[in-house]
Parts: sequence; structure tokens; C-alpha cells
Amino acid sequence: MEATVSLETAEGNLYTYVVVGGGIAGVSCVEQILEYDSNAKIILVSSSSVVKEARSVTRLTKTLQDFIVVESSLKSFKDVHQSVDVIHDHVASLDVDNHILKTLSGKEFRYKKLSICTGGRPKKTPFCLDSPLLLGIRDTESVHNLAKRIENAKRVILIGNGGIATEFVHEVKGIEVIWVIKDDSISSHYMDAAAAEFFVKSKINCENGEEKAEPPENSNNPVKRQQYTLSSPKLTEEKVEGCVEPGSALGPDWHRDLNLKGLLGKKNVEIIYETECCNVTLRGSEEQKQWPIYAKLSNSQIVGADLIIFATGVLPNCDWVDGSLRQEEGKGIFVNASMQTSANDVYAAGDVCCADWKWAKHWFQMRLWTQARQMGLIAGRSMYFSHKNTDVNHEESEEDEPDFCFEIFSHVTKFFGFKVVLLGLYNGQGLDPCKQQLTLRCKKGVEFIKIVMVDGRLQGAILIGETGLEETFENLILNQLDLSEIGGANLLDPDVDIEDYFD
Ligand SMILES: Cc1cc2nc3c(=O)[nH]c(=O)nc-3n(C[C@H](O)[C@H](O)[C@H](O)COP(=O)(O)OP(=O)(O)OC[C@H]3O[C@@H](n4cnc5c(N)ncnc54)[C@H](O)[C@@H]3O)c2cc1C
Repeated sequence: MEATVSLETAEGNLYTYVVVGGGIAGVSCVEQILEYDSNAKIILVSSSSVVKEARSVTRLTKTLQDFIVVESSLKSFKDVHQSVDVIHDHVASLDVDNHILKTLSGKEFRYKKLSICTGGRPKKTPFCLDSPLLLGIRDTESVHNLAKRIENAKRVILIGNGGIATEFVHEVKGIEVIWVIKDDSISSHYMDAAAAEFFVKSKINCENGEEKAEPPENSNNPVKRQQYTLSSPKLTEEKVEGCVEPGSALGPDWHRDLNLKGLLGKKNVEIIYETECCNVTLRGSEEQKQWPIYAKLSNSQIVGADLIIFATGVLPNCDWVDGSLRQEEGKGIFVNASMQTSANDVYAAGDVCCADWKWAKHWFQMRLWTQARQMGLIAGRSMYFSHKNTDVNHEESEEDEPDFCFEIFSHVTKFFGFKVVLLGLYNGQGLDPCKQQLTLRCKKGVEFIKIVMVDGRLQGAILIGETGLEETFENLILNQLDLSEIGGANLLDPDVDIEDYFD
């Protein structure tokens, strides 16, 4: 294992800033420190040989930013950021009292300010079977492995109902997909049953040949609006030697440049709702000879396939921190709104951390690249100012007010090729189901809008397609304007120019 650069410049390996992890959170943290001080003495330690950088950042609203994630080698990152020392190694332990990090290869680094951005690792499958036919999707290597296996496959079983599973179903071609989900609608982490149905009807059924192709975007098909009140809660790379840790999580473009194509002429997706996978076995008995691997489902079905893909989410990657920082299994390292952990001079950001401050009413934590970037930037800012203040003999700064980006949950992504914007409590998260008034506007194959209102005030929205409404709705959630007189239906009337209305 080699350091990409010499450490000669470090005084006895003492660095002002040490950042662990080259994912979007770690890189954003480094870049933020450099914004304030381009000569800052920083070391970036990463067990992956590639880093993830956010590029082409476009501001869509006050809090919503679209960007692409670019992957580059540690070496080229160093070429661009000359003052940063970049080490390809795996951090194995932390001594918070003496401000020392130790790596698997036996190196030691002393820090003044440390940021832990070690992301997450896929949840292990609960089965004892260790087989290459049982795959998870997490990093570049796992995705290339998946593409290779798909090439020779006719059928896969997909287990999981998050963003990765949804994207997989959209991207894969020429294969039969048996999608096993424990919920009663797809992508339930992101959307409710109505929005999920938009995708199933617009895309999945069409691709299965059950419905005709969609009309062009400018078609005059009627726009359907519907209003309802909830009556039941129901609606609601290169590896470091000896290191088994994953590389950075992929970004939303993980499938770009990948050929996820199986052996069949067309794709067919079958969704098995409200079902879990209880066991996995390899080809064996008389009845289980057709396929190389079989899944036993909670509905008693036994389904065979060429591959089983697990996309059941991630767990924060912080086991190596031991008990030196306040953390909880499955939740991660607790941080305040300045990304400070429970130990002096130690910060954490991204998938590894747990947002432990009083959240604004319309914000919540979700392990997404948008939040990883925001948290990384804030960690960098806090580290810089904390160091600057210590330098001039000030007390360590008190926790700041949460940054404006934590005022409202906002996220933009693509599902099945549609732009998807999620704002505020878009699924009614934490709201009394009986008080929520939901209004939908849907033009099949073109757009789907759902707004959530309580007492005439907008609480959240899902915007699918090119709706152009994100800024207006973000403002309405933030300022909590009383919209009782206008009503949800008018708010979504395509003939009413609401931007103009609120100007
Ligand atoms: C397939 C897939 C698709 C996704 N799609 C989307 C999407 O569409 N939209 C979205 O918003 N989010 C998506 N996500 C989630 C998103 O990628 C993550 O939330 C985000 O990348 C987290 O960034 P991070 O920097 O916190 O962690 P990571 O990207 O996981 O980076 C962690 C870094 O830490 C390093 N590391 C780990 N342990 C150590 C150690 N002990 N020592 C040294 N280095 C270490 C790793 O090598 C890596 O460089 C997706 C995730 C996956 C897996």
C-alpha cells in the first residue's frame, strides 16, 4: 500500500485537517476548506482509489441543486489540489484523546481537526450463503460485476424497494425481473402508492407490452386532478490490501456507460408486493434444477433465477470508531448541525452520520448524495472556523444555527427517465394522516404532481416530469402561506399561472 504523495511536508505527521473518505461528503469537505484557505494543510485518506466530485452544479431553487457526480483517481485529485496530501489506505482506529488516526498499513496521522466521511456499507443479506450469484449494488466494482453477470442471464430476482432497485428496473434490458418488495407499492422510501402507480402504468406496464406506448409530451391528453383526504394511516476499483471495505457509494448516474442487458429479446417485470425473501438456496433438489439459484419467499413461493440482487439499503460505516464517539448501531455517528461529533475536534458528514439536532418542521435526514454534499460542505466550514478561532485563542465555537439547507428537505433525481423533485414532507412524513389533504395532477406518461396540505398550508410536494413548479412550491412550504381560499385543486390547475398569482 502506497501513499500517493510523500509525507515529508507534514511536521511529524501532524495535519491541520484530516478527512477520511473520498466520497461526495469527504471531497466536498476538502473543497470547502480550500475555498477558505487554498494553502490549508489537508490530508485525505481513502480506502478507495477513486474519489467522487460534484460537478456542473445548477441551482434550481434556494435549497435544490442538481449536479453530476464525477469519478477521478486519487492521483488526479492531487494534481488539481496541490496542497492536499492524498493517501490510499484504510483507517482502522481513532484515538480521540491524543488526536491520532491509525491505518491498516500501520501509518499514524495526528490531526488538529478531523472529519469522518466513511459513508455506508450495504446491509448484509441475512442468509448464510456466500455465492457470486447473490449480489449487492454499492460501488463501481459491484456494478461492473453485476453487468458481467447480467450478460448471461435470462431472469433475475431483485430484492429491495429503494432508489437503487427502482433505477435497476428501469435500466436493465433483455431480461425477466422478479421484483420482490415488502411494501404495497414500489419505491416506497421516495413516494406513496399514487406516485408509484404513475411509474408502473407509464413505464413498467408499457415495457411489458401491456399498454400502448406513451403519447408525445405535447399531447392534448386530459390532465386528471384528484383530491382526497387520508382516512387511514395506510396511505401514507482497486482495493487496499487486506481491506474488505467498499469504495464510495455510486451516485445517481451509476448505470451510465453500463450495458445492463440480459439474454432475452425484451424485458419483463413482475412485481411481487408485500413479500420478503426468507431464504436463498443454490440449485439442488429435483424441483429446483431449472435455475442456478432459488429464493424462498414469505408468501411460500419458491422462485428460481440466474441471479439474486439485494438492494436493501446501507448501514453507516463506523464500526472502526469503537466507543470513542457517540453513535448508535444502524444510525451512525451523532452530529450537531455544525457536523460536530461528541469528541472535540472531530466532525462527521454524509451517510456515516446521524443528524442529531432539532430538525426544522419540513426537513428530515435521508442518505442521499445531496445531503452528503451539504453535510460535507458544512463540516469543512465548521472545521475551518473552529481552527481559525482556536488559532486566535478563541473558545471552540458554539453550535451554529442549522444552515438554511436544513430548513426544508429537497432532492432532485431521475426515476425511469423522469425528473423527480421531492420537497418537504412529500409523503406526509410525521403528519397526522387524518389531517392531510392530498391533491394530485396526473398526465399519464408526462407528469405527476402530488401536494400535501394541512389546514390550508402546503407541507410537501412530489413533482415528476418537467413541471417547472419547484421554486413556487418550495417558497409555499417555507413561508407557510395560508392557501385555504385558493385550495389545492386550484393550485394545481394547469390553467392558473400560480407563479404569477404569488408574485
Ligand atoms: C447504486 C446506488 C445508487 C444511488 N443512487 C442515488 C441517487 O439516485 N440519488 C442520491 O441522492 N443518492 C443515491 N445513492 C446514495 C448516495 O450515493 C450516497 O448517499 C452518497 O454517495 C454518500 O456519500 P458519502 O460521501 O457519505 O459516502 P460514500 O460515497 O460511501 O464514501 C465513503 C468513502 O469512505 C471511504 N472509506 C470507507 N471506510 C473507510 C475507512 N475505514 N478508511 C478510509 N476510507 C474509508 C470509501 O472508500 C469512500 O471513499 C445511491 C447509492 C448507491 C449505492
